Amino acid sequence: MAKEVSNGGNHVSTKPPPEPSPLRRAKFFQANMRILVTGGAGFIGSHLVDKLMENEKNEVIVVDNYFTGSKDNLRQWFGHPRFELIRHGWYSLQFHQSKEILAYHLIRILLTSTSEVYGDPLVHPQTEDYWGNVNPIGVRSCYDEGKRVAETLMFDYHRQHGIEIRIARIFNTYGPRMNIDDGRVVSNFLAQAIRDEPVTVQLPGTQTRSFCYVSDMVDGLIRLMEGENTGPINIGNPGEFTMLELAETVKEMINPDVKIVTVENTPDDPRQRKPDITKTKELLGWEPKIKLRDGIPLMEEDFRKRLGILKKN
Ligand code: UDP
Repeated sequence: MAKEVSNGGNHVSTKPPPEPSPLRRAKFFQANMRILVTGGAGFIGSHLVDKLMENEKNEVIVVDNYFTGSKDNLRQWFGHPRFELIRHGWYSLQFHQSKEILAYHLIRILLTSTSEVYGDPLVHPQTEDYWGNVNPIGVRSCYDEGKRVAETLMFDYHRQHGIEIRIARIFNTYGPRMNIDDGRVVSNFLAQAIRDEPVTVQLPGTQTRSFCYVSDMVDGLIRLMEGENTGPINIGNPGEFTMLELAETVKEMINPDVKIVTVENTPDDPRQRKPDITKTKELLGWEPKIKLRDGIPLMEEDFRKRLGILKKN
């Protein structure tokens, strides 16, 4: 039966994808699973690897080019018989892999897409059937449009070749192992408060984000991969904060003496962002457990260790 997809009143019929072969389905009930995690030395990737390695039926291969990831995040698995780490750029690997993917039809691929596909959203909170409001030529476009086309290609492979796909749209995520100086808001504010440097709220400061703790994110990704639904599905914490509220929270919890200053913003910064997780709850039985105020101290501990700055009494 053709499936109806709605977007603000426009109804579009899509052809159903080819039926997955029974042989392929059987493969997923086999005892051992070999899982390739691209970007597995990064922040979310390495936490995903930790979780996957807990299951002794899993063999985990990580491919990373270390542009933003670090071997340090995986040190605990070096030498483990079920773990392998390969330094490689994904783009060239993808080319070789794609032939194998078509040849065996035996794999399931999860794409970690992003809430950025919604751009500067005109629908709030964002539901998966909202098509987004994205500037195609702005400074953020390479990321936003890159992820949008990745979703498109995933669905084309799914429809044309019956490849089993899963698409997660992940919202802002935070936790231990975030890069200290990569400019993301939670890592910036925490590092600034710990170093006793002014906390830089980019104007207007009323823009909102919803922050998901990394262990919740990993749990959602694994449930999606193990479940029967292709997605796209939102994975994020619906607790929504303005950047000024976040700065005040960090100040109160980490360094009550720190200054909060306002600074210029970059163009096209989304004004609001909050996941609608109705579908996620229904289909994956998932919802986040860790509130921002419980997650910040866990991340603070990790940042203090890496920065070598102890908490003042
Ligand atoms: N932001 C801020 N101060 C900073 C870094 C970021 O106020 O030092 C704001 C930024 O303008 C944006 C929000 O925090 O509105 C989230 O930025 P981030 O880069 O972490 O995530 P994204 O914009 O990709 O959701």
